[in-house]
Amino acid sequence: MNKFDIAFVGAGPGGYVTAIKAAELGYKVVIFEKEYIGGVCLNVGCIPTKALLKSAHLLSEINEAESFGIKLADKLEPTVDWQVLMARKDDIVEKLTSNVKILLRNKGITLVEAFAEILDAKRIKANDTVYEAKNIILAMGSSPSFPNVKGLQEAFQAKDVVCSTGMLSLKAQPKKLLVIGGGVIALEFATIFNALGTDVTILQRSKTILSGMDKDVRKTMQRVAVKAGINVITDTKLLEVQGKTVKFEKGGKVLEETGDVVLVSMGRSANTKGIEALNLEMNKNSVKVDEYYQTSLAGVYAIGDMSSPIKLAHMASAEGFAALDHIMGKPRIINYDRVPACVYGFPEAASIGLTEEQVKEKGIEYKVAKFRAMANGKSLASGDTDGVLKIITDEKIGEILGVHIVGGVATDLISQALMVMELEGTAHEIANAVFPHPTNSEMLAEAAHIIEGYPIHVSVKK
Ligand SMILES: Cc1cc2nc3c(=O)[nH]c(=O)nc-3n(C[C@H](O)[C@H](O)[C@H](O)COP(=O)(O)OP(=O)(O)OC[C@H]3O[C@@H](n4cnc5c(N)ncnc54)[C@H](O)[C@@H]3O)c2cc1C
Repeated sequence: MNKFDIAFVGAGPGGYVTAIKAAELGYKVVIFEKEYIGGVCLNVGCIPTKALLKSAHLLSEINEAESFGIKLADKLEPTVDWQVLMARKDDIVEKLTSNVKILLRNKGITLVEAFAEILDAKRIKANDTVYEAKNIILAMGSSPSFPNVKGLQEAFQAKDVVCSTGMLSLKAQPKKLLVIGGGVIALEFATIFNALGTDVTILQRSKTILSGMDKDVRKTMQRVAVKAGINVITDTKLLEVQGKTVKFEKGGKVLEETGDVVLVSMGRSANTKGIEALNLEMNKNSVKVDEYYQTSLAGVYAIGDMSSPIKLAHMASAEGFAALDHIMGKPRIINYDRVPACVYGFPEAASIGLTEEQVKEKGIEYKVAKFRAMANGKSLASGDTDGVLKIITDEKIGEILGVHIVGGVATDLISQALMVMELEGTAHEIANAVFPHPTNSEMLAEAAHIIEGYPIHVSVKK
């Protein structure tokens, strides 16, 4: 009775999405989840942050309403109702996660809501019951990692410092938020709280926030964050954390910052509790897998945050599908140069493919074109003028190597670049396509025209 074709450990976007596909394909499936149906993504990641971001964006739009010709009667000041704002977020999470539970049930998947201990490549123990499976797909996610900084662990234990999960259950809005880290999650929280009226400081180790993204994205996003009032301190070295005070070095000086909430957001490491008996090979903080997501133990796969170099929800699902294809005897390899990454804020940022720095490092002969949002009618009309769309193509045939966008709807726009890349289209085909007007997507066409050698809405004196 407890015999299955495939067992999934973890019901995040890696585990539950792949489990559904496996069940649809006729496999007998069991899934184990100890805490969050829907994983980090639906419970304490992608979705709750976007719910808060919407409230924050609404407030910032109301605050800017007068410049759009909308007057608030008697200068009514909008204020934040923290309890309602958090309740709305919780309600959205509840709707999505309960729907996942219904989906799993309707697809005939056995859901075991318990901690799973993997005994060997074919057996899993949960709630004192042993389950057998021909294949196991581990999709156990990741948890925040803490660099070795004096006092940081202690401050986290004492709840003086919180991680992203703690930020999503704050009882009140902080007056001052100190964010350690300048990556995507750090910037998202900084943007939300800054727009809600909290005084926000970011401490970042690198020279700019969002290190790893293309330089035009990094520079634009940092300029916008500073313009919005976020205190961005870059090039810092953390020295010590004492309660809610962080000491750091910058330019040879020892400085300190205090927040009434201190968020640490400095990367994540694989969850490995429950798989100790498997003695799997590790790759630093991740479970080591081959190109088909097989671990060092035959029949055991690992996908998503616990093994992937790209810790994103859509990556976890995509890796799950590829692992499933391998189980079905139809192996295929995912191209990691065609995985979009998004930063949510106002404006948004999104990237796919190689950055200009990576293209240079690889010694590829390339062309690059940038089109500013300021020159795009829809962006201007919407007030989304802080933006740029950058295309990098190979020199000879115009194959798209990378697209990097900052703008109002960058996170949706990137999918157009994704499709062109996936279908191996070129700048020539983008330039010849008929784009609807007025849309932000015209920025893609404009950049392609530049690559083709005839910039349209760009003033260049001849
Ligand atoms: C604040 C924040 C915002 C984010 N925003 C975005 C975003 O906008 N877009 C995006 O693409 N990504 C975002 N991410 C990343 C995204 O959440 C993760 O990449 C994604 O959830 C990974 O999916 P997963 O299935 O690998 O793991 P998870 O979603 O972490 O799911 C793993 C599940 O396994 C369970 N589990 C672990 N061990 C066991 C065990 N032994 N027994 C039973 N169950 C177990 C866990 O309880 C968990 O529910 C965000 C992350 C955070 C923290």
